Amino acid sequence: MTARSQIPPAHGSLRPDTVVVAGGRPAPEHDAPVGPSIVLTSTYRGSGGLDPADRAYGRYSNPTWEDVEDVLARLEGAERPGLLYASGLAAVASVLSLVPAGGRVVMPRHSYQGSLALAADLVSRGLLTTTAVDVADTEEVVAALDGADLLWLESPTNPMLEVADLPALLAAARERGVLTCVDNTFATPLVQRPLDHGADVVVHSVTKYLAGHSDVVLGAAVTSDAGLRARLKGHRSLHGAVPGPFEAWLALRGMRTLALRIERSMATAGELARRLREHPAVAQVRYPGLPGDPGHERAAAQMDGFGSVLAVVPVGDVAAAEAVVQSLRVWTPATSLGGVESLVERRRRHHEEPHSVPETLLRLSVGIENVEDLWEDLDRALSGIDR
Ligand SMILES: *Cc1c(COP(=O)(O)O)cnc(C)c1O
Repeated sequence: MTARSQIPPAHGSLRPDTVVVAGGRPAPEHDAPVGPSIVLTSTYRGSGGLDPADRAYGRYSNPTWEDVEDVLARLEGAERPGLLYASGLAAVASVLSLVPAGGRVVMPRHSYQGSLALAADLVSRGLLTTTAVDVADTEEVVAALDGADLLWLESPTNPMLEVADLPALLAAARERGVLTCVDNTFATPLVQRPLDHGADVVVHSVTKYLAGHSDVVLGAAVTSDAGLRARLKGHRSLHGAVPGPFEAWLALRGMRTLALRIERSMATAGELARRLREHPAVAQVRYPGLPGDPGHERAAAQMDGFGSVLAVVPVGDVAAAEAVVQSLRVWTPATSLGGVESLVERRRRHHEEPHSVPETLLRLSVGIENVEDLWEDLDRALSGIDR
């Protein structure tokens, strides 16, 4: 088998937009393939004994996962390889398993609805309790930390785009010995690095921006802490939410263009946010990149950009909001986000979505199409032309 695909140590200081291209490739030997292989195996040849460092079996490790895990760690600035999972929610479940039975988790009221539903399920079975907080209200979050076991953060939040003061909250949790995890799916490590701000663990739905082409479901957890990593890996091995090697390969293939995709989609998101704010058929736009947005100053201080998701509340009732979604032609009406194609969804169509999310709120995931085509489509749909 070809040698392990590490970026040579001499190049350890490469910038993130180079890491996504250079990482996870075979060692530079003559006739080596330029790109990584998909290693399809359920088991590994052993040496007689059982060394804990052995690959041993396909539920514990896989070289194709490791290509991606190495790149994710470099992007997040972690001292240890990341851990790939079968989905983002599997990574979330693994982190929640770190909470002792009967423990308490502080969670943003507005989080990814799957994470909220998973936590609610654990609560309903008496395994933990949760305290819901407004993540933009630093005092409220800090007040909830005493005696908590885990501070779960999302910033910007899905779908309300509230921005948490990451450095302040992570420091407050550390002082109180509360474990912290940041879901960094919306920002990506090119825009926000929670470990640098003091987080213990970062999770990703790799399904979204990292893989970037709406063709794979995958997740990841990243930490610099050896003990936490061992517990997470143990949970992954025992619970079996492991990714397929092909999905891992697809994710790395997608990540090659992450920097370009993010640059383009963020620029377009900013432009659309400015135009939408002026549109007569729009009641409200939430986007941290807009000066005047409640999260703007914080986001500018802790992020290298503002992401590519917008929350837009059109004028009118639920039927009118649905009509906007259904009359779009360039935008695709679908759940999910972070792909090359622009998607739009009225979030409250999901019954699990918190009722504090406005019923007419549309979540826009801005892709990499031409900004004018996206704008003309939105303008036409919002203005009720062809409806
Ligand atoms: C999609 C999403 C998840 C869940 O990831 P899956 O890959 O769908 O399991 C978790 N957090 C956020 C913020 C998401 O957008």
